[in-house]
Amino acid sequence: MDHQNDDLFKAFLQKTHVGLVLKKEALSFSIYVAGDNYLKITGLNREALIGKDIFDVEKDIFPSNILEVLERVLMYKSEAEISPFLLTPAHHSKSLYISIHISPVIDHDGGVEYLLYTVKDIDQEIRFANDRANRNYFMDLIEQAPVGMGILKGRDLVIESANNRMLELWGKNKSVLNMPMAIALPELEGQPFLRLLEDVYTWGEAMVGNEAKAFILRNGKLETAYFNYAYQPIKDKKGHTTGIMMIATEVTPLVLVKQKLEESVSSFRSVVMNAHYSLLVLKGKHWIAEIANQRLLDLWNKKKEEVIGLPLLQILPELVGQPFLEYLKTVYETGKPYGQEEEVFYFNTANGIGKKYVSFFYDPMIDTQGRVYGVIVGAEDITARVESRHKVERAEEMLRIAIESANLGTWHYDPLSKRLTVSPRLKELFGYKSNEEMTYDTVITQVTEEYREVVQKAIQSSVIKGEHFDLEFSIKGHYDQQLRWMRATGRIYRDKEGIPVRFSGILLDITEHKQDEIRKNDFIAMVSHELKTPLTSLKAYVQLLSSKAKASGDIQAMNSLSKADGQVNKMNNMIKSFLDLSRLEAGKINLEKQHFGLNELIAEVIEEITLTDRTHNISTGNSQKVMVFADREKIGQVINNLIGNAIKYSPQGKIVEVLCKEVNGETLVSVRDEGIGIPKDDIGLLFDRFYRVESRKFKTISGFGIGLYLSAEIIKRHEGQIWVESEEGKGSTFYFSLPHKDLIL
Ligand code: ADP
Repeated sequence: MDHQNDDLFKAFLQKTHVGLVLKKEALSFSIYVAGDNYLKITGLNREALIGKDIFDVEKDIFPSNILEVLERVLMYKSEAEISPFLLTPAHHSKSLYISIHISPVIDHDGGVEYLLYTVKDIDQEIRFANDRANRNYFMDLIEQAPVGMGILKGRDLVIESANNRMLELWGKNKSVLNMPMAIALPELEGQPFLRLLEDVYTWGEAMVGNEAKAFILRNGKLETAYFNYAYQPIKDKKGHTTGIMMIATEVTPLVLVKQKLEESVSSFRSVVMNAHYSLLVLKGKHWIAEIANQRLLDLWNKKKEEVIGLPLLQILPELVGQPFLEYLKTVYETGKPYGQEEEVFYFNTANGIGKKYVSFFYDPMIDTQGRVYGVIVGAEDITARVESRHKVERAEEMLRIAIESANLGTWHYDPLSKRLTVSPRLKELFGYKSNEEMTYDTVITQVTEEYREVVQKAIQSSVIKGEHFDLEFSIKGHYDQQLRWMRATGRIYRDKEGIPVRFSGILLDITEHKQDEIRKNDFIAMVSHELKTPLTSLKAYVQLLSSKAKASGDIQAMNSLSKADGQVNKMNNMIKSFLDLSRLEAGKINLEKQHFGLNELIAEVIEEITLTDRTHNISTGNSQKVMVFADREKIGQVINNLIGNAIKYSPQGKIVEVLCKEVNGETLVSVRDEGIGIPKDDIGLLFDRFYRVESRKFKTISGFGIGLYLSAEIIKRHEGQIWVESEEGKGSTFYFSLPHKDLIL
């Protein structure tokens, strides 16, 4: 081809749709023609291309695999296409997609020297396809998103789209699409959401909400649900809101769990605050006091502000050196709870160091990883309890020392189980070895026969009536069979319901004392007895002389002898009472009961007394006629004694009034005088043996303190009662009563 033709041909080619004509070189290809269309698309100029090797021109205008493709075209002499290829044109900032078509130009020899490289702008096409793919992808994404998504259009908030999740959250189906929100979810009326959406629409500002409570109609039921949501306005190019994009997730289970947790935390707090114990929650390694109830503040003597939020050691620096810190440390380290019944707690006060007793426990709080993150401390102030126990212990110790040094035996008897517990000393007294058991039944058989019934009765009435038990009796030793005298005292102890739970007391060996007494009694009996015989003859002589004096009319002798007779009678009475006493002590008094009129007996006694004594005015006032069944002589002795005392302890000329009547089915006798009376302190002791009221004023009044003792014993044996009412300086009234049952029987 000549030059002219060549140029013409090139110019022609430039106008066609052919992009480039590539000429085959030894190892590469050179650009032979560049078409106008190609230059337009690529933004290159012709000079930069023509004659250049394809590898020498600006990079990126050919696909990276161009050489391979060209060689293939040469080899197979076939066409090839590369599409799409993203080209970055020189004058454009934006890249564009093109398709490249390569076809060989075959000459007559069947060889290939030129390749036609044609390009086409397919940018629009590709981008459109991409967009569509992207949009589908996006829609899929929304559809499958695990969060609720939806788009509302227009001021009416018409639901343009809503993914499945959103429909589920609403409890609705696709039928709500294209409906305004207010119609699709009528239950929202009165709830804040519609107004919020309207605000987002009006102001064009996004809004988010967390754990918002909503009432939603699901499956025909109005349910309470909680949502996290975001409302994002959708705007057009001019910035006007055209719709709202909604994103929502339901967090109901989470909120419920949270609420439960809060409830349990608050109920835990209220449990702590109202607990009967002092309670404290310590947290973290510095033992920060997070919760403390009032009782704990009281225990520590602190105010709330001095405790809450502060580390333990700052609250109570005095804990250093006390065992609590070590225990607490161990609980933190081991995760094991620890508690102690009693521990001393020292604390600082304005006046020095205070001391309390506490019982406490430490309970570790353990997190999910098994680490201790806090400790619950419970404590109780047991100071009062411990101190009173110490007091009791001290008192018990004192009592024990006293009992031991007095050589007393102690006993406890449980009336329910009938179990008898005794001290070693008591076993010794009963003649047992210290390792031997003693039972109630064997103890009773050891009491000598004459006292056995008395002891049993006394125990019974003590258990039943709660009376104090105080008895002297004799026993026989278990092994040695020796007679020993015992004094036992005791009482019944009841529980809150009044049920007798324990009957206990002490036992004292009084053998020696008793033997002394027996000797003394024997002596008194013997002396009285010996005195009686001479006194009887003395009385006979006095009477003989008296009748002689009467015959001779010697009035003076008669008077003296009558006085002598009175004195002999007095002495006789005294001796009689001594004899009675010794008989009584030896248990030899027997009652000989008979029916008799008490009034007559009283009259007889008064008559006998007035024979020798006319110093007082003795009256029987408004007495009733009363019959009794009793030992006439002994009751006479009692009346005699009471009237005798009334005369003895009241000034001459005063009245002595003896009354007898029936009161409440009992016979009541009273002897009233206008004498010296009895001091209050003595009243309870009057009926004891040998008891006499000490008074300097009345020292001259003779007596032995036997009369009232004997009277009381006699009345007791009649199962009656004897007592006195008296006022010092004004007079006394002695009473005794006799039960009537004997009379009826
Ligand atoms: P006594 O032989 O001493 O009179 P009693 O046993 O009869 O012995 O009386 C005991 C004591 O009670 C007396 O010593 C006396 O102090 C006091 N007493 C008894 N009767 C009366 C009375 N009627 N008035 C004042 N004191 C009395």
